[in-house]
Amino acid sequence: MLNSPIDEIKSRLDIVEVIGSYIKLKKAGANYRALCPFHSEKNPSFFVSPARQIWHCFGCGAHGDIFGFVMQIEGVEFGDALRILAQRAGVELKPRSPEWQKLKTERQKAYEICELATKFFEKQLEGSPKGKEAKKYLLGRGIVQESIKKWRIGYSPDTWSGLSDFLVSQGYKNEEIVKAGLAVRKEEISNIQYPTSNIQSYDRFRGRIIFPIFDLNSQVIGFGGRIFSVNQRADQRESASTIAKYINTPNTILYDKSRVLYGLDKAKVEIRKKDFCLLMEGYTDVILAHQAGFENTVSTSGTALTTSQLAILKRYSDNLYLAFDMDIAGDSATKRGIDLAQLSGFNLKIVTLPEDKDPADIISKDPKEFEKLINNSLSILDFYFQNAFSQFDKAKPEGKREISKILLTIIKRVPNKIEQSFWISKLAKNLEVKEEKVEEELKKIPPTTFQEEEFSQIEHTKSGGGQKSRKELLEERLMTLILKSPQCLSQIDKKFISLFSPATQEILNNFQNQKNLSQENSDSLNYLYLKSEVEEIEEKEIVPEIQFCLKEVQSLEIKSKLNEISREIKKAEEDKNPEKVKKLTQEFFQLSKEII
Ligand SMILES: [Zn+2]
Repeated sequence: MLNSPIDEIKSRLDIVEVIGSYIKLKKAGANYRALCPFHSEKNPSFFVSPARQIWHCFGCGAHGDIFGFVMQIEGVEFGDALRILAQRAGVELKPRSPEWQKLKTERQKAYEICELATKFFEKQLEGSPKGKEAKKYLLGRGIVQESIKKWRIGYSPDTWSGLSDFLVSQGYKNEEIVKAGLAVRKEEISNIQYPTSNIQSYDRFRGRIIFPIFDLNSQVIGFGGRIFSVNQRADQRESASTIAKYINTPNTILYDKSRVLYGLDKAKVEIRKKDFCLLMEGYTDVILAHQAGFENTVSTSGTALTTSQLAILKRYSDNLYLAFDMDIAGDSATKRGIDLAQLSGFNLKIVTLPEDKDPADIISKDPKEFEKLINNSLSILDFYFQNAFSQFDKAKPEGKREISKILLTIIKRVPNKIEQSFWISKLAKNLEVKEEKVEEELKKIPPTTFQEEEFSQIEHTKSGGGQKSRKELLEERLMTLILKSPQCLSQIDKKFISLFSPATQEILNNFQNQKNLSQENSDSLNYLYLKSEVEEIEEKEIVPEIQFCLKEVQSLEIKSKLNEISREIKKAEEDKNPEKVKKLTQEFFQLSKEII
């Protein structure tokens, strides 16, 4: 008899299946491996052990069970991870049990409100006269009934509190509706005449087509609302200037527009399968693309690409195709997004659209035509080349200068040096100048400034915990080797043991004295066992490897002493104490000989 929902969920779900639904897992012996979703890496160091039902990243050190994985990847609290996995496992968490009440976080309430609101809007689209007009508009744009249902498109009535009244009747407080992003506090907007004075808040979305925005588990977390006819006056009481074509939920506890990609919940499997992601501009583009079979399409919700979105996309594919009308000279936000994507190692391609057309036009008319455009898409560098050469006259010196100015900045950002040299020679050839000259100019270009702070967000996305020091890594490696081949322990000279951290010293001593390990220590060794399982090393290499680690630890120790001495030397120089400088310098060279 399983007594807690946690045990029950664990018994029903397989860790490989749960994690495999988020990231690409590959079988590696008894385990599975993948590129870590929590830090940026080229070689997979993220492992899942079906036998132990744990996961561990040997790159960034993140680890845990299914709950920990869902918490990290979704960025949620434990209660929410429990709810997500319970749903997946088909385990019912009894709504009235005290356990459930405790877990009913603010976040949970916001989920419930968003779900109820979605149902309310869906009903309005089918039932109300205005809703039917909105539906007619959608069908007219080529969105079929099946898609309306799949994307849960709805209509918000043109009233001040239609939705709020409904939600209040379902037991939610006005305050909670505001927090979920569906209502606006009265005092927040000053230029609107209120129908009644006793109203505290009013509906954010009024008289709009509603596109619910989903998280990766297809739960509604926010909304986009669109005016659906050019002639429509959304609200006669609002001045024309306040009527925006699109409005979105503001950032809430669930919805962070810089992290969300519209359609990703429905696209993730296809993105992985096709190994590329199509990025478009708006909700209708995405819906029409999916409808036409391009189910690997997503869009940002009214923002340029952010590092967080890129980090999320990276879990599914390294290939990103941009299919939107791009005025690279004009839209600096878009360009910045492209730069970031380029820097984070995406293979970027541009689907060039015929002038004055958006993807939706082409897809709804002729999906085959769009397929052709995808196949003919240009790599981002080719795209920039084409653009720069069409803007300026390469025959004139100033044309050469302007073209190289644009392209060198971009070439500078190509992370792969071989690839970079390809573009250098292409530029030289096209400009009819010597390659060395191009290289010379390239050296003058400063590296992109935001690389450091913004790019590092990708590197460290939710990796948690600090970086391990080299010494810690070496110790860890040593322990792994010993676990893999315990008889090698005799290779360790006692004098080395004192160089290790107290915890490692204890483990090594206990091993050498054949003592059992304490529970605490075996817990901390749990992942090292996994590591020793996945380690691919031949038996005969283990001893030299151990010796290498010991030597490295020793030389680290020496290096840190050398650092200390050089600091003392500097101080002695400042104090104008030549005797001391001489003595310390001798000491320094003596010690440095010990590093091989
Ligand atoms: Zn990692």
